[in-house]
Amino acid sequence: TAQLIDGKAIAAQVRQQVARQLETRHADGKRTPGLAVVLVGDDPASRIYVNNKHRDCEQAGIRSFLHLLPAETSQQALETLVDELNADPRVDGILVQLPLPDHLDARPILEHILPHKDVDGFHPYNLGRLAQRLPMLRPCTPKGVMTLLQASGLKVRGLDATVVGASNIVGRPMALELMLAGCTTTVCHRFTRNLEEHVRRAELLVVAVGNPGLVKGEWVREGAIVIDVGINREEDGRLVGDVDFTSAAERAAWITPVPGGVGPMTIASLLENTLIAAEMHDAMEQGSLPARDEPAPDRD
Ligand code: NAD
Repeated sequence: TAQLIDGKAIAAQVRQQVARQLETRHADGKRTPGLAVVLVGDDPASRIYVNNKHRDCEQAGIRSFLHLLPAETSQQALETLVDELNADPRVDGILVQLPLPDHLDARPILEHILPHKDVDGFHPYNLGRLAQRLPMLRPCTPKGVMTLLQASGLKVRGLDATVVGASNIVGRPMALELMLAGCTTTVCHRFTRNLEEHVRRAELLVVAVGNPGLVKGEWVREGAIVIDVGINREEDGRLVGDVDFTSAAERAAWITPVPGGVGPMTIASLLENTLIAAEMHDAMEQGSLPARDEPAPDRD
């Protein structure tokens, strides 16, 4: 039966590491990094995410500027706020919580954020850098998955990997991360004809769809590493992933639970990204070009 990948414990290690680096910055007389979090409207789930981000920032020693805007905020007003945050020297990272209310178009807002303050890594500039093997600010959830693998001592170079889900925020950047790390990567999505076949081949399986039980345990390759990004709420209130956990755990060598697997890593990556953004900000103030994120060890 599979070993559990303990996202809660690994996320706590990342948070401690960020807190230590912040102490060093402080001892060196550098500014306290700042993260601006923007929430439009009062979606209860988003409100919880935003509050958790605020709390974790403060605990790690990052200043958090919370902007809670009414649901009827206009596109123009939101863009103006992003302009102000782009120009604010106390703000190193800007995060606009998604989804936005229906009358707002997220794409131009996200593209309005300066790429070196884009701590979610959703700007085409940052996605493009990842695609070209020059990562700068990397999308938080896929980055968190790479941290889980690394912290568990799992080497992925050369593995046959399958990513199920191809969204801009999870599946697509996940596939780019795995290619960068040297996997032979297959990406499945809603038009994939034989999902089972692609799942069966995977030595490393990452599922990010939002469909409980989509991946059957019998499909999982013997000895595979299974990363379940899905978060689904059952009628009884329980949270479950996209993979049938009990049957998959009988075949996999490693598996992430839901909750307590990938979930806690997203905010941990956000804290890391805010620190990276602050260091780029410092470097730019000193007139040097922004440094890029840690060089990837495995380049094809
Ligand atoms: P999305 O709806 O934007 O994308 C879903 C993807 O799944 C699409 O690419 C679609 O083509 C694909 N898909 C749909 N049905 C499929 C099928 N039958 N077979 C194969 N592919 C199929 O969702 P998202 O934002 O990428 O999120 C995916 C899941 O991950 C959700 O459950 C979400 O809650 C969760 N999530 C978790 C975290 C976290 O752990 N911190 C972060 C982000 C998202």
